[in-house]
Amino acid sequence: MLDIQPIPAFDDNYIWLFTDAAGERACVVDPGDAAPVEQALQAAGLQLDAVLITHHHFDHVGGLPQLRERHAPRVYGPDNPAIEGIDVRVGQGDSVEVLGRTFEVLAVPGHTLDHIAYFHSGDDPLVFCGDTLFAGGCGRMFEGQPAQMLASLDALAALPPATRVYCAHEYTLANLRFARAVEPENEALQARQAAAEATRARRAPTVPSTLADELATNPFLRCREAPVIAGLKAGEQLQGEAPAQVFASVRAWKDNFRG
Ligand SMILES: [Zn+2]
Repeated sequence: MLDIQPIPAFDDNYIWLFTDAAGERACVVDPGDAAPVEQALQAAGLQLDAVLITHHHFDHVGGLPQLRERHAPRVYGPDNPAIEGIDVRVGQGDSVEVLGRTFEVLAVPGHTLDHIAYFHSGDDPLVFCGDTLFAGGCGRMFEGQPAQMLASLDALAALPPATRVYCAHEYTLANLRFARAVEPENEALQARQAAAEATRARRAPTVPSTLADELATNPFLRCREAPVIAGLKAGEQLQGEAPAQVFASVRAWKDNFRG
């Protein structure tokens, strides 16, 4: 199993770090801040070999200039000229080889138009999905449209259920409180919320989740499920029953939710 460590950054970001088999060279995902990455590299005696970028937001790319200057890693990222310091620009259907691991690139626009995810298949599948899919939620639609964002989430939902979901923020408790408002009777969701509260009480990350967890409890992946549609109706939030309308309804409700 690929060992992946969280490097906490800012208030609630996770920069993910993994190493080669020898434990000497490292890759980080979405280094919004260089300082905590430098600390983690030094503490473990690692050399920074590669960086994966999911999208252009500052809290995902802000550490790039300093890390490039000090370590000259190979940087993979979206084909967006607004991001400086990408060595290899990748998109849907590309695959990248990092520290002996292969990752398939998925285009997942919606949170931003340049957003991509990195999927590693095999016995131990995992995805680095940035701000597209969160544990119990999804990113806000800053640049995209509901049908587009839903298609991106559908692409992630089609990955193997065992896929570990490495998102970029610790938003889980707030997401699950909202999910309970949408689906108060969902027992898997109730159990997940209790488990996540216990995890956060000991200050441990709730990420990664698994795609199976998300399919059972995340309202944004459940736009075609009757209890979600019923919950939207009960909350007087339903804009229409087509999946993209259901998705837009869940997203709009969450944007205004004060739980
Ligand atoms: Zn973002």
